[in-house]
Amino acid sequence: MALLQISEPGQAPDPHQHRLAAGIDLGTTNSLVATVRSGASEVIEDERGRALLPSVVRYCPDGTVAVGADALAQASTDPTNTVVSVKRLMGRGINDVQIDRAAYGLVDAPGMVRLRTRAGDKSPVEVSADILRTLRQRAEAALGGELNGVVITVPAYFDDAQRQATRDAGRLAGLEVLRLLNEPTAAALAYGLDNAAEGIYAVYDLGGGTFDVSILRLTKGVFEVVATGGDSALGGDDFDRRIVEWALRETGSSGANVEPGDWHESGDWRALLIEARRAKEVLSREPMTTFSVQLSGATRVRLPLTAERFEELTADLLARTINATRQALRDARLRVDEVKGVVLVGGSTRMPQVRRAVAGFFGKEPLSGIDPDQVVALGAATQANLLAGNRSAGDDWLLLDVIPLSLGIETMGGLVERIVYRNAAIPVSRAQEFTTFKDGQTALALHVVQGERDLVEDCRSLARFELRGIPKMGAGAARIRVTFQVDADGLLSVTAAELSSGVAASVAVKPSYGLSDEEIGAMLQSAHDSAGTDAQARALREQQVEAERLLEATNAALAEDGALLGADERTRIDQLLVKLAQARGGADAQAIRQAISTLSIGTEGFAARRMDRAVARALAGHGINEIGS
Ligand code: AMP
Repeated sequence: MALLQISEPGQAPDPHQHRLAAGIDLGTTNSLVATVRSGASEVIEDERGRALLPSVVRYCPDGTVAVGADALAQASTDPTNTVVSVKRLMGRGINDVQIDRAAYGLVDAPGMVRLRTRAGDKSPVEVSADILRTLRQRAEAALGGELNGVVITVPAYFDDAQRQATRDAGRLAGLEVLRLLNEPTAAALAYGLDNAAEGIYAVYDLGGGTFDVSILRLTKGVFEVVATGGDSALGGDDFDRRIVEWALRETGSSGANVEPGDWHESGDWRALLIEARRAKEVLSREPMTTFSVQLSGATRVRLPLTAERFEELTADLLARTINATRQALRDARLRVDEVKGVVLVGGSTRMPQVRRAVAGFFGKEPLSGIDPDQVVALGAATQANLLAGNRSAGDDWLLLDVIPLSLGIETMGGLVERIVYRNAAIPVSRAQEFTTFKDGQTALALHVVQGERDLVEDCRSLARFELRGIPKMGAGAARIRVTFQVDADGLLSVTAAELSSGVAASVAVKPSYGLSDEEIGAMLQSAHDSAGTDAQARALREQQVEAERLLEATNAALAEDGALLGADERTRIDQLLVKLAQARGGADAQAIRQAISTLSIGTEGFAARRMDRAVARALAGHGINEIGS
């Protein structure tokens, strides 16, 4: 795989001026901001010494916006105006949303879902911007000046829409977003893995709402992400939910027959989740705890919970993370014993059973010297520091990330021509030449798709655009170069240019909403399952396209030179045309191939006569015996 040098912004800075830069981990549960001071990365705390900012935003009755712990404290009393886990909604349409729908008034809006609050309908971008604004104020107060730029981290699996939404949130918060960086990549940087022994490293990131695993390869100081995997709907929150479900089962009638909607309205559901989380975190250091919640009404839930029982309740969740890890290694075509080191990221990796499972799977103890909540922000800070221009000699390593699903365009017959393959390192630029299908064709419709399947209808449509003004030429004569470019943030732009005339058109792909990890997983699975049927479908479509081409060419020839045929010959060819048209309408590739072949043979004589006539016209004015003399 070609390694591409990344050219960075912030060139030629004044070497004596230190530019203020920060790394921001915009998390599902918590967010952090970090910076490099005196050569070392450190997390910036708020005025009360707290590093983690809960990613919670409350639109208060007095018109103010509370962000962080204050907002979290009201989450159960004012749930509809208090937004938690907004990251799950970034760049998503209403149908993609898999959170507790009933907890908010979700509003269907073009592109991205919105949240109905007392401060009006809020887009997830606005809510995230409120979190980022708080972090910005914290950093600027601590650093004593305006930030020149930030790096914001995103899960490796975020697609274009989710990345774009994150970038927009940064802009809305008044931040100069120098780069979006994949979270696992940032974590590897924090551990200084770019200076480590060459080889393969894995980053296992289990946060509050997402699980990501990345496989990195280090070669000669060059850092490449060779595969990513994970599940954006699996995290510490699910472990909390398991405790709540267990508590409801144990207490029998006290809540089990209450509809979830009622729970959300009363705020009890949130209260149960908050207690579950507390209990879970205690069980990371103690063998048992008491799960105790006062619900609205007179109900009190009070139950002992042991670490052992908690492990049993959540064993399948842990197994899912290990399976996804195995899959990422498979995607990278690597064996588990080829992995040199493993990095733990995310607050949920504090659970002892997680550490044990990861160590067991890789056969080695994971690296965990850096606080797993801070490691991503710390790595992002080092990257922000470099991008802002605070470099020193030897700092010029580059980062490579990968494309989660292949990108391509639709060709004749609804087939996909893949141009950038899954797991290609970004930034990447790939071009391919195409041509026109019809004589005199002056426009070309381009349809950009993402996915692993052969047929367009099985892939996700990203964008459509047209190239117009192609000079009139015979079918197949035009040379149209289509270039796919994915920038360092994973954003795609596609350009099409006709090479002889220079006419060009392009599109920046901003899909209206994103793909969930389940969708990505499902698309990969279906590509795998349907490799055989896809090959058959491809063969059929190819024959159909060939049939179409031959029908058009024959009809055009008949219109032009039909006079060269006798009545019998004409009838025979017309019959063959009908047969081919019928076969093309069916689903039997073999029958179409046969009909193509029969028509080709049946028109050989006609073709020869047309050729003679063309030669005769070309030679008009020359005596026939001049040929060959
Ligand atoms: P993050 O998204 O990385 O901030 O991770 C937050 C998640 O980590 C939440 O689900 C927390 O409950 C979980 N977490 C934090 N500390 C602990 C702990 N000591 N034991 C278990 N889970 C924890």
